[in-house]
Amino acid sequence: MLERETPDVILLDIVMPGMGGFEVCRHINKERDDLSVIPILFITSRTDEASIIRAFDIGGSAYVTKLFRSKELLARVRIQVEYRRAMQQLRTMAVTDSLTGLANRRAFFTGGLRQLNEARARALPLAAMMLDIDHFKHVNDQYGHARGDEVLRRVADTLRDETDRHDLCARVGGEEFALLVALPDDTQTAARAERLRRHLALSFTVSIGVSALTADCHSLEALLTQADDRLYAAKRGGRNRVCVRA
Ligand code: GH3
Ligand code: MG
Ligand code: MG
Repeated sequence: MLERETPDVILLDIVMPGMGGFEVCRHINKERDDLSVIPILFITSRTDEASIIRAFDIGGSAYVTKLFRSKELLARVRIQVEYRRAMQQLRTMAVTDSLTGLANRRAFFTGGLRQLNEARARALPLAAMMLDIDHFKHVNDQYGHARGDEVLRRVADTLRDETDRHDLCARVGGEEFALLVALPDDTQTAARAERLRRHLALSFTVSIGVSALTADCHSLEALLTQADDRLYAAKRGGRNRVCVRA
């Protein structure tokens, strides 16, 4: 069943033919990261303390003995389901920028490290873009903060539309966005960035610095620092441009 669907809660017996409840629980928590968030309630005729302790040790959320009272069981299930929903909400909030719905700064750096390690291990291309809206303070000053927020959401929508599912796209500061894309060199990354810049320039302008993963530039920090230096070069050079050199 778990191959097909992700339930909100699992009620699990301990003594079962084939695979016992403890083994099922261990399997879920150890081998399936995506399933380990599902609360498991043991329902069993075993009442010995060792079994109860073991059930919690291996990740069980509750222990109910037979014969159980159905209202009590329902109450326990409800608490677990509510707890799980709250946890899920918090997990999502912890990695999401609330204004734009993009990944936030934290998610960018944890996800970025994962992508970089994978790119290096499997010799896959990877490049970074740092994008900053030009004279954004003027947008706020002239049209108000609400309009400024709208512009930020517009940028986010365009980034989402113009990137692939596997690209990492985040709002890392007030009006600064960072992207990790699967492109092999500065030239191709600059071409992609240029397409983004033109797309956005219909209503406001942005500056972008790009940097590809190379033998000389192979840590996430180096990649982003280089992209950031080039972003500042783009600003110094007059804004509304993509820069591949600092
Ligand atoms: P530059 O071309 O050099 O980047 O100039 P800039 O005005 O874009 O840069 P500056 O750093 O001076 O100003 C950034 C502005 O972004 C200032 C701040 O009020 C605004 N800002 C930051 N976060 C938000 C936000 O969440 N919403 C809105 N509306 N504005 C924001
Ligand atoms: Mg800025
Ligand atoms: Mg700016």
